[in-house]
Amino acid sequence: MTRFLIHKQTKTIVDADDGRTLHYSYDDFLDQIVRGHSCFICGAQPSSKPFNNEHVIPNWILKSYGTPASFMILPNATTIKNSHYTVPCCQECNQLLGQELEIPVSQLLKKDYKTVVGILQSDERWYFRLFHWVCLLFFKTHLKDTYLEAERDRRLAAGKIGDSYCWHPLYHIHNIIRQHHTGVRLTRDVQGTIVVFEALVETETEEFDYLDNLNSQVVMVKIGKIVILAVLNDSRFCLAGYKTFLSKINGALNSVQIRELFARLRYLNENIKRRPKYYSLFKDNIYKIAARVPNKVEFLQGVKQKANLFKLMRFYIEDLMPPDLPDRKHLVKDLEEGRAQYIFDEHFNFFQHPSYSQQMTALEQELK
Ligand SMILES: [Zn+2]
Repeated sequence: MTRFLIHKQTKTIVDADDGRTLHYSYDDFLDQIVRGHSCFICGAQPSSKPFNNEHVIPNWILKSYGTPASFMILPNATTIKNSHYTVPCCQECNQLLGQELEIPVSQLLKKDYKTVVGILQSDERWYFRLFHWVCLLFFKTHLKDTYLEAERDRRLAAGKIGDSYCWHPLYHIHNIIRQHHTGVRLTRDVQGTIVVFEALVETETEEFDYLDNLNSQVVMVKIGKIVILAVLNDSRFCLAGYKTFLSKINGALNSVQIRELFARLRYLNENIKRRPKYYSLFKDNIYKIAARVPNKVEFLQGVKQKANLFKLMRFYIEDLMPPDLPDRKHLVKDLEEGRAQYIFDEHFNFFQHPSYSQQMTALEQELK
């Protein structure tokens, strides 16, 4: 007997045994998940079962890192309290997300950098888990945008930030983040680039930081001394394109270097010549998400390029420069014209910030 039932009109697919929604049609995804305030995992209505909502930034991060009680959301600089920064989620799904994902990932990321790298290298499944976790953070962030006003001045009636989104790319991510609920199998090609580096601690407390680009699906998450950068939709093309570059990063990245790396990943991802395409497959009672991946990893060159590296570097690095920085104008110009880079020196050696060796010396003395 078949496990899958397809709704005649909407084309949403449910499990024949227990009625779980396995695969939303695009219209049902928009109606129920994006606009319908249903549980973002199982799709239950808030009136149908107990809800306790899911924090966009997980609780364990809020408790352990220098995250203030409220913070600013871009693009409109609205201040929001952490306690309000949640998306609709039923108690059951929230609990399962905790068990399957948040608890193991939090246990991993609370370890020191070297241990984390050792664990990732010894068991590839950890990369899949981290990829799932980054996809979840990315999805929740943008789902929350459907609740946030686009203009702080409500008289302007500009609607919500999420109103202007094209939800197609997030539709695919939604299928990925529900994998523990639907039991879907992801083929290896579905996983994007994910790299983990040591982050330089530049403030008194270890911090959490998050940056993404919706359309390019590039994400940066910094948790204390660990920074994760991911490209969610490239089937690891960027990892292949930057293999040598990434392998030469052999120290802790400061915030400017993290921004440069973010800009570079976005640049490369937007210049993929022929992109991988993702699709869902229901066959022999198995639900799969797979990818059609071009044989060759190729990037657009010269005038054909869709994104300019130096403009992106300026975009992401300029706002880290203090307004009173001497010679700021020239530095910005150098960035935009390709004369400035921060990850490597002129001999293509990793540029380690001097404060890193000071921190290491202090740590060694503490241990003596
Ligand atoms: Zn649920």
